[in-house]
Amino acid sequence: MKKTDTEQIRLANKKQIIHYLRVHGPIARVDLGQALKLSPATVTAITSELQQEARLIEHPATTEKTNTRGRPRVLIDLAPDAFHVLGLKLSINELKMHLGNHKGQVSDEMVIDLDTRALSEEGLFDAIASAVRRFNASVPAHKRPKALGIAVQGVVNGLNGEIIWSPALAVRKVPLKHELEQRIQLPVTIANDANCLTMAIRHQRRYQSLTDFAVIMLGYGIGMGMVINGELYLGHHGAAAEFGHSKYYPEGAQCLCGKRGCIEAYVGDYALYRDASALFPLSWDNSLHPTEDSMQVLVNKAESDSKELRDLFQRAGRVLGHGISNLIALLSLEKIIISGPGSRAYHLMEAGLMTNLEDSLVSDLIAETTIEHAAWDEDMTIKGIVVLALEAID
Ligand SMILES: [Zn+2]
Repeated sequence: MKKTDTEQIRLANKKQIIHYLRVHGPIARVDLGQALKLSPATVTAITSELQQEARLIEHPATTEKTNTRGRPRVLIDLAPDAFHVLGLKLSINELKMHLGNHKGQVSDEMVIDLDTRALSEEGLFDAIASAVRRFNASVPAHKRPKALGIAVQGVVNGLNGEIIWSPALAVRKVPLKHELEQRIQLPVTIANDANCLTMAIRHQRRYQSLTDFAVIMLGYGIGMGMVINGELYLGHHGAAAEFGHSKYYPEGAQCLCGKRGCIEAYVGDYALYRDASALFPLSWDNSLHPTEDSMQVLVNKAESDSKELRDLFQRAGRVLGHGISNLIALLSLEKIIISGPGSRAYHLMEAGLMTNLEDSLVSDLIAETTIEHAAWDEDMTIKGIVVLALEAID
């Protein structure tokens, strides 16, 4: 075996151990080795290295849990304060920042309101750089972030860190990573919000056995993240997987991307609100971005008295089912998880979704893939971008 191969294997093992500790720690070394099928020698070598880098802590041995020889186990974990990263979410008219520690735990929120659609390219670079400086000044020196992760609504090239298009911005093709790294002198990672959600889900204990799955994020737009062979799949050009802009009907409803008939143009919050306003007099104060409250009003009305609205959500479910059936036929994934703020209406879409799936695919194909709704109780995109920023410097 060449030396470079050995080094590659060592780095891959180290990455696996860090991921496992981030998700499951604290844990005994012997259990870590068994879970990852790594030899005791490998676990000892890598955990010693992490200890030398001051990235590992040992918890006091517990007396209740003992190994077979009766010795108390020492539990190890990532040291939460070994270093910190900054997670920033860029959405329409808002920059939201959180500190993430080495374990991936999130704290210290700061929100800056600004008219994002009025920003030039330079204006955007300056706004983010000054937001990062403000955040830095608000935390003690030992918590100053070592890296920045930016979650963006829209289409992003995760490989070169370019924002291709975002509903939050009037400018397109913005080389954000390159320009910001010059200004703030920190490594910058950029991902779209659906990939961030996917990374957050990949770090939840109950999904650890999955290696091939997709997460569909319903919300203002429709995004998707895909994990293939255990890794986030960005595609050859870095902008996979734009499920929301795959087509339902080529000459169909207008999509915000500029084309017609995308899945998002039927299922996104803005599309549902637009189509509902053709049925009822609705406030258009915030038509660019219907608020959570405005969307909840539609859900309540559909549940209580409006058959037309129920039909609208059912149609959204059928369009979603159409897209999902293509996904299943093409990729044969283990699981498709549906989440995001727009999944507040999942119960109104589910029957339409399932009907379309059953109509589109032979049952043998569907049976292999499970579809699950994961409730959106908190904004998981921040957690995901923190993890991506950590992994960039792990
Ligand atoms: Zn589109």
